[in-house]
Amino acid sequence: MNSSYGILVVLAGPSGAGKTTLAHHLVDTFQSAMFSVSTTTRSLRGSEEDGADYFFVSREEFEKRIENGFFLEWAEVHGHFYGTSAEWVSGQLDDGRSVILDIDVQGALQVKAAFPESILIFILPASPEVLGDRLLNRNTDDSEIIIERMKAAAWETGWIGAFDYFIRNDRLEDSVKQVETILQGEENKLMNMPFPDEARVFEPDSFLGRDYWKNKRIIVTSGPTREPLDDVRFISNRSSGLMGSSMAEAFRDAGSDVLFVTGPACYINPPGVNTVNITTASDMLDILSSEVGEADLLVMAAAVSDFKPTSYMHGKMERAGEYELQMKATPDILSTLNKTVECMCPVLAFALEFGEDFEEKALKKMRRKGACAVFLNRGDISGISMEATGNEGMIIFEDGSSLMIHRCSKRYAAELVIAAMGRYMMKRTGGE
Ligand code: ADP
Ligand code: 5GP
Repeated sequence: MNSSYGILVVLAGPSGAGKTTLAHHLVDTFQSAMFSVSTTTRSLRGSEEDGADYFFVSREEFEKRIENGFFLEWAEVHGHFYGTSAEWVSGQLDDGRSVILDIDVQGALQVKAAFPESILIFILPASPEVLGDRLLNRNTDDSEIIIERMKAAAWETGWIGAFDYFIRNDRLEDSVKQVETILQGEENKLMNMPFPDEARVFEPDSFLGRDYWKNKRIIVTSGPTREPLDDVRFISNRSSGLMGSSMAEAFRDAGSDVLFVTGPACYINPPGVNTVNITTASDMLDILSSEVGEADLLVMAAAVSDFKPTSYMHGKMERAGEYELQMKATPDILSTLNKTVECMCPVLAFALEFGEDFEEKALKKMRRKGACAVFLNRGDISGISMEATGNEGMIIFEDGSSLMIHRCSKRYAAELVIAAMGRYMMKRTGGE
């Protein structure tokens, strides 16, 4: 079993629920999984080894590390400090290994806030009686401590709603199967692995041209932008950001160096690409102005707001009977870049058009924007484009050639689009 992009899995839940048992099972079963050894201020117990079960340090040393930003998360649990090394975890994930954390609930919530793509699994004992028995049988704590841990268990279980999965650890053989299935399922998600080469072998013509993008610098814009009315409301649109993130993943897997510039989208930013989060059309223009000169392609998959309110109010506008909203056009990003950037890179535009003359409109847009290709979506077909997980459309090139993309997932559509775009660029540059 192997994953290409490491997954951060957090097992949390009451002490004695079975986190350590299940964490070690995952590490023993998945070649790609590593156990994160925490740092603690508590003293060594029984057969524990420094560096294997925990790194045991003094309170003073722990506090120094908090100050130095050493920890991804840390918490005081049962009167002692425990923490996870940020550098170690990032290093493992960057190397494509999954990381298993066995930590308390407070720490799990901190990890989710820092890494929204992490997977939180709550380990729930079958009943308070079973938990009490397990703590007693573990023989590591005296009865006073066990009473304290039973009280803490009730508090920790109150946080179960913040978790992605939970496992009722009754029969161990069932629980190990469940935890394995979760990790395997996460590793098999297309967004967590490169698009399988095997799929390409069956359809070599469709994917021809993809290799053109190896080591090329690509900027992908994605998601909607937001143009604020006040500190709470904004003008935006229904773009989910899925086509943009799928394009970024397709280029990433083709070996490109990807800069992903995204507005507030519904999806987690793709792993393995550099991401810049922006809010408004002007923010997007600013970042592109300084980046496009060095790029080999700009993919404008973002649905940039065309209008913004003419005024902005700090705080929250009062509810009133009638309110007149005045708007003005936002900067036309591609036109501005064409005028202001000395060495503008080629552009793949995206267009969502309505009406009989949708194709004509898209062609006009491509020429007006100086793009060398446009991916055209029809706004009057349901189940594709905005807010949909699938797509269908047509990529049209400046020389008049085109390719139909039949309905498929956005991830697959992105693979077909980058290959077609690669073939076109090879033709344009004479096969470079
Ligand atoms: P935690 O890490 O959550 O504190 P452990 O993994 O150390 O919990 O488990 C506590 C005790 O319960 C250990 O002795 C372990 O072997 C045992 N245990 C764990 N899961 C089960 C289970 N499903 N059935 C019976 N005993 C279990
Ligand atoms: P123990 O002292 O019994 O090994 O662990 C006590 C509790 O501390 C357990 O709930 C365990 O999951 C939690 N814990 C262990 N390491 C860490 C860590 O690095 N961070 C946090 N937040 N909790 C941890």
